[in-house]
Amino acid sequence: MIKIDCHSHTIASDGALTPEALVAMAEKMQLTHLAVTDHDTMASVAKATQAAIGTGVTVIPGVEISVTWLGRTIHVLGLNVDIHNAELLEGLRGLLKVRGDRAVKIAEGLEKVGVKQPLEHVKTFAKGELISRTHFAQVLIEQGFANNVKQVFKRYLVNKKPGAVEGDWAPLADAVSWITAAGGDAVIAHPARYKLTRTKLIQLIGDFKNAGGVGLEVVSSSHSSNEIHIFADLAVKQEMFASRGSDYHGLEGQWAKLGHIADLPKKCVPIWSKWGLETTPV
Ligand SMILES: [Zn+2]
Ligand SMILES: [Zn+2]
Repeated sequence: MIKIDCHSHTIASDGALTPEALVAMAEKMQLTHLAVTDHDTMASVAKATQAAIGTGVTVIPGVEISVTWLGRTIHVLGLNVDIHNAELLEGLRGLLKVRGDRAVKIAEGLEKVGVKQPLEHVKTFAKGELISRTHFAQVLIEQGFANNVKQVFKRYLVNKKPGAVEGDWAPLADAVSWITAAGGDAVIAHPARYKLTRTKLIQLIGDFKNAGGVGLEVVSSSHSSNEIHIFADLAVKQEMFASRGSDYHGLEGQWAKLGHIADLPKKCVPIWSKWGLETTPV
């Protein structure tokens, strides 16, 4: 029997754990398979794969790509990718630059409301090469502007607040084509998070499938059980593979535990059946 989690983060993006600690956690949670899917970087995958040798855990190489679709930010998972693929690496390099530019603008906005040297401080929290809004949130908490990450986002980082800067991320078709070029499977991450109308969601799926995308993350720690049913139905209707991931970040206060999420509803065709893994997880 396999026990699989297809969505997790490390310090290479905005997670709290090193790749080694993440694999140790996967072992503790008795997972057989874990996809390491940092935002816009695969910097932790080789280390995680190395750390998993001799454990019962198999690391699935992955990435979570930031996409701008019709002015909205959408996350697309690339699962089972070749981390040495030049096209994918080149695409991610472009996104790293977008992130760098965005960080400068966020810092400017935050300085105006009295945050001290946000760009310098954020670098002490970002352990990898990539700066995320979660890292800025840590700066604001440290300087006493808020008590927790959720509060910082609400007060400072979204909806025209001082540090709200929309990234100009990868076009949907580009992200999917990089993943496909790297031999991977593209999956729309946590679809409930985008708060799309049914019509917009169907439009997103249409564009995604036209680009070569194949999967929908049906089970996510950010989905309610009702949403899991809705997306399971949708995956079946749209003839998409279904995925299951905790989106574990290892951050304090995050209730989601690695691998501890619902099983895929039986009607779904799991994405891992494409990789020759048995189709019924524990
Ligand atoms: Zn995401
Ligand atoms: Zn994620």
